[in-house]
Amino acid sequence: MPTESTAKIRITDLRERINVIDAQILERLKERLSAARKIGQLKAASDASVLDTGREVEVLTRLLAENLSGELGNFDLLKIYRPIISAARDLQHQGKRHADPPSLYAVFGNPIGHSLSPLMHTAAFWATGYNGTCFAVEATESQQIVNGMKTIGIRGASVTIPHKTAVLPLLDEIDDQAGKIGAVNTVLNQSGVTKGFNTDCDGVVSALTAVADLAGKSVLLVGAGGAARAAAFGIQSAGGRVTICNRTADKGERLALELDCEFEPLDKLPLLESEILINATPVGMAPGPDASVVPENALRNGMLVMDLVYTPLRTRLLREAAAAGCETIDGCEMFIHQGARQFEIWTGLAAPVEIMRLFVHAALAKNG
Ligand code: NAP
Repeated sequence: MPTESTAKIRITDLRERINVIDAQILERLKERLSAARKIGQLKAASDASVLDTGREVEVLTRLLAENLSGELGNFDLLKIYRPIISAARDLQHQGKRHADPPSLYAVFGNPIGHSLSPLMHTAAFWATGYNGTCFAVEATESQQIVNGMKTIGIRGASVTIPHKTAVLPLLDEIDDQAGKIGAVNTVLNQSGVTKGFNTDCDGVVSALTAVADLAGKSVLLVGAGGAARAAAFGIQSAGGRVTICNRTADKGERLALELDCEFEPLDKLPLLESEILINATPVGMAPGPDASVVPENALRNGMLVMDLVYTPLRTRLLREAAAAGCETIDGCEMFIHQGARQFEIWTGLAAPVEIMRLFVHAALAKNG
């Protein structure tokens, strides 16, 4: 245990060390900004655009990949680098700064405390240099979402449980796909006119099509709730042949009738053949039991198996599927892709999917 006076000496030494490091950082920052100024002059001479989102995402992705150990977490690294990149961009603009306040985005739900959406979107704003901010709001009534957006001027919202269906009739306009699904998870507010979209559907399809062509594929979808509905709609639109398999037969049959697809009861699962199998039930989600809704004898070598549950990332279903020789996709991929589509609807920019994935994975690892 150091005495008070030895601790003071040690602190003084460490502060001096910090002063020297700060001076070195300052010198290197000046060099970095000087290089940026020269790039600005070259761009001006060749009439090229200052904003180069691709290059900025490339810089951040490289830095995050190099930041593998030590004191600095990836989110803190991004927090430090974002203003450095903004300063470099301002220099390239030769002093013409954008002083506009950030556009506001919110994630509405109840409960909402554990949502990773604000973190994922903040990372995407920083990575692309988009002047936006995203925060979580606990909403008990769906009407609060629309009132909040219109009153405060929130430009975009991500809507989650329990508002996805109830918010739909409260919006001014509904995108065709969201109207057919009957649920909205994304809202865009354009000068007071609110329009609802469903990106859960795009999220499932993008995650699947990243590894497989869905046209003509047989897809066994376990569950008949909101997520299953969005998934079934998207998969069918992409040419997949869906069979709904649900615990409560009435509910499954109703969804199958609406989608004009097959229905099978849950206990038939081991007898059914399909190329793709998706769990759209909450079975296996923490803090619930480490369970799987799919018996092991329903998993076949070569099948593509996706779980929409992403806490934990490797659910029992995915572990058993991998052991049976199946290719697997975790629920995080749906979450990231639905968020990427939200970002595109909100900002009109291409989403930095890799950065979004990096941050969601880091947060999930941190939360255990
Ligand atoms: P939901 O509307 O409540 O539907 C739940 C479905 O799961 C129902 O069909 C229900 O069957 C079935 N189910 C529930 N417990 C079951 C059990 N013990 N055994 C068999 N079937 C059971 O829920 P949801 O909104 O569709 O969400 C489903 C899951 O998807 C959740 O875990 C959610 O977190 C996840 N999700 C993930 C994402 C993502 O981005 N990855 C997005 C949305 C949802 P019955 O009809 O018999 O009750």
